[in-house]
Parts: sequence; structure tokens; C-alpha cells
Amino acid sequence: SVVSSQPETLTVMGGGLVGALAALYLARRNYPVEVYERRADPRQTGTTEGRSINLALSDRGWRALEGVGIGEQVRSVAIPMYQRVMHDQQGKLTYQPYGKENQAIYSVSRNGLNRVLLDLAEANPHISLAFNQQCQVVDLRNRQLVLRDTTTGQEQVRSFRHLFGADGAYSAVRSVLQKTDRFDYSQHYLNYGYKELTIEAGPGGAWQIEKNALHIWPRGQYMMIALPNLDGSFNCTLFFPYEGPQSFTALQTGPQVRAFFAEVFADALPLMSDLEEDFFRNPTSSLVTIRCFPWSLADEVLLLGDASHAIVPFYGQGMNAGFEDCTVLDELLDQHGTDWQTVFQEFQRQRKPNADAMADLAVYNFEEMRDRVADPRFLLRKKIESRISAQYPDQWMPLYTQVTFSHTPYAEAWANGQRQDQIMQRLMPHIQSEADYDLPTVQALVQQEMNNLANSQ
Ligand code: FAD
Repeated sequence: SVVSSQPETLTVMGGGLVGALAALYLARRNYPVEVYERRADPRQTGTTEGRSINLALSDRGWRALEGVGIGEQVRSVAIPMYQRVMHDQQGKLTYQPYGKENQAIYSVSRNGLNRVLLDLAEANPHISLAFNQQCQVVDLRNRQLVLRDTTTGQEQVRSFRHLFGADGAYSAVRSVLQKTDRFDYSQHYLNYGYKELTIEAGPGGAWQIEKNALHIWPRGQYMMIALPNLDGSFNCTLFFPYEGPQSFTALQTGPQVRAFFAEVFADALPLMSDLEEDFFRNPTSSLVTIRCFPWSLADEVLLLGDASHAIVPFYGQGMNAGFEDCTVLDELLDQHGTDWQTVFQEFQRQRKPNADAMADLAVYNFEEMRDRVADPRFLLRKKIESRISAQYPDQWMPLYTQVTFSHTPYAEAWANGQRQDQIMQRLMPHIQSEADYDLPTVQALVQQEMNNLANSQ
């Protein structure tokens, strides 16, 4: 064009997983992007930050990482988990594949992933990163930010034109939107907290339990899970009530913790030599669902990731959903160019129902993991579902597969899943074993259900 103006600077608050990835996507369009992060640069604090924590990365997240060209790099340090392995109280194991052969969710280090994204951002000439910068105030009227240097305490005022709030579940940017008219907001805490624990590596860095799996110790009202690390250890997370006879409150001393684990997690206990130390040193953290709307203000502010939709971790989708936000934002920028207001409006219109569905799915999966996976009838039902799916691949994708191994919008997946649930409730009374699936009477019922399903769609 004749009038070539300098592209506007974009401001990203938060250099966590979503903020760093969003910055990379925005910079691909040659905007100057400035990222402010409250914490110190995680690439420089490696030795003091304690144990690495891992996350399950699945298809939605992979697609977003591939979009900025780092799929392969992350895959090389990710461990595929092909199945759930359930540990019962006697130490007996049950296996449940997550999908078809070769379908896996991947255990990746949160810090490792954040560092890869920050390295890429650092190397990008359009991006400037500033650490130890805490957003204190967002002045919407004057489009100014107050940032406090967390090392010196000094404050600086910066102008912004388009601000992306990727500053997590307790977002400072959102807290300012919350004070605007007709802003809906809710937060809900579970009565459960979680604590990070460790299963050590065996001799020579060997994995002491199945490496390529997500392990679950389902115990009805609570559970422990474990995800593998590259060094042979596992990060365990105990999800446990805050109060009650079996709760964090009830475990106050080392001997109490050990006795409890000996009773309910007997096969894991010998592999957790730092149990008491971990248990009392690591915090008990809370589990929150945060919903809000709108996610944007005019063409000025947009919330991304946990800042707009924090969910409980039981489907392993929080980061994946935040990464999918980046993919969707990128698509909308393709469609609407520099019409930021339309991009922001369209983004929240598309994403809000999906974020709400994912929040519900995450709570639903908590019950499945801590309780239903220990039930043989439930596992039989899962097998029958995969038989149906194999027989009618175009009509039946299991809910877990839709959420984890597809890009079907979460809201659609959740609606499909609820229809499938009703069908399974009608079918399962006729089925006592996997072989029953081939009975002519059962096949006739299945056929009828599939016809109804096809007609309703
Ligand atoms: P965050 O990761 O919280 O990053 C926000 C960043 O903003 C941080 O770096 C923070 O320091 C910075 N910040 C905050 N306030 C300010 C401020 N005022 N000024 C400047 N900077 C600020 N998701 C999955 O997909 N798979 C999993 O397996 C999984 N497991 C989980 C297990 C647990 C126990 C929990 C709690 C969550 C899990 N999640 C998982 C969810 C995942 O951690 C989050 O969805 C993801 O981290 C969100 O990324 P984000 O960048 O939006 O927010």
C-alpha cells in the first residue's frame, strides 16, 4: 500500500506455556511482540526450582506446537503413554489402552516445554521478553500498564494498544475486566487438594513401573496418578480430600503418612523413598474451575489460556485447550487480518462454549479416574465401546478419543459423548462379557441404536 505504517506493537502478559506460544504465533505476522513475565527466566533458574513437573500433551497441543515448527523437537523429549495402568489395593494391575494402537498421550516436562518456547521466542527478532515484571495495574481508559520489577521493586508505566492476558488462573488482566460492566465471573473449588510426590528411578535410570503408561491408583473417593520422566522417575500426584477421615487433615505426621500409604498404595510405597519428606515439604494445592465472559474488551484486550478458562486437571486438557486457543486465534487472524475487534469477538464466540464443555468434561473425568476405572463393568463397557467404534468407525468415536485424539470442538465432543452414554446405558444390561457383543440379539440392538443415531444427526 502507499501508506506503509509501522505495525502496532502487541503486548502479551505472562510468559508461561500459552503466553509464550501466543507470542510466537503473533510474531509470525511480523508484529513487534513484547512479553512480560512475573517470574525469573526459567532458563536461568534451573537448579533452584526443585523437581520437574510433567503434563500430558495430546493432539490439540501437538497441532499448535507444529504450527510454530517445534513438534519434532518436543516429541524427542516426550514419553508416549499408550494406556492407563490401574493399580488395585492388592497391587494387581489392569490395562486400558487410550485409543487405537499407536495412539498415545505424551508426558512432557512443564519447565522443559516452557524453556523450548522461550528459546524460540528469544531467537525471534520480533519478540522481546522481559522477566521479573509483574503486572500491577491495567488502566483501560488510558491503555497503560503498571509493571513492577520483582527484583528491585521499581515500577514502570507502559502504554499498550492490544493486550493479550495470558497470565494464568489468577490473571491480573482479567481482574481488571472483572470490574467492567456486565462481566460474568465464577470460580469453584473442589473439596480436594493435590500433592506432588515421586517414584524414584531404579538402578541405572530404569523405570520401576511400566514406562509408557499413565498409572492410576483409583480408590473411590481419592486417587494417586503417576506420569513418567525421561530420567526413570515418575511424578506422582495424590488427589485427596482436604477434610474428613481420609484426608490431608487426617495425615499430620510421617508415621501416619507411611501407614496410610502402606495400606492403600502398598505397591507404590517401596518405590517412594522420600515419601515423608516430599509429603511435608511440597504444598497441598487447590483445584479450581474459573469461568468468565466476555474474554475481550473492544479491540484492546483478549484473555487466553487459564486466564479465561482454568479447569481441573483430570482430562489433561488445560494446556492443550490453551494451545488450541493459539491455533484458533491464528486462524481468525488469517480470516480477519487487522480487524482486531472482529478477531476478538469471533474468538470468544467460538471458544467460550468449548471451554465450558471442557470444564465439565474435566470434572466428569475425575469421577471416572478415581472411581469407575476400578469397576470391571466399566472396563467391559469401554471394551464394548471400542468394538462399536471398530464396527462403525464413521459414526462412533469414543468420547476420550474425541477429546484427546481429535480436533472436534470440545462442546460437540461432550454432546456426542452424552448421546453415547445413553446408548451404552441401554446396551450394557444385555452384555455380560466381551464375547456377548457378537450375539445376534446384541448385534440387532446395536444396529438399531446406530440407525437411530444416524437419523438424529
Ligand atoms: P500458566 O501456566 O499459569 O502461566 C501464566 C504465566 O503468567 C505464569 O508464567 C505466571 O508467572 C505469569 N503471571 C501470572 N500473573 C502475572 C502478572 N500479574 N504479571 C506478569 N506475569 C504473570 N494441562 C494439560 O494439558 N495436561 C496436563 O496433564 C495437565 N496437568 C495439570 C496438572 C495440574 C496439577 C495442574 C494444576 C494443571 C494441569 N494442567 C494440565 C493445566 C495446565 O497447567 C494449564 O492449563 C496451563 O499451564 C495454562 O497455561 P497458561 O500459560 O494459560 O497459564
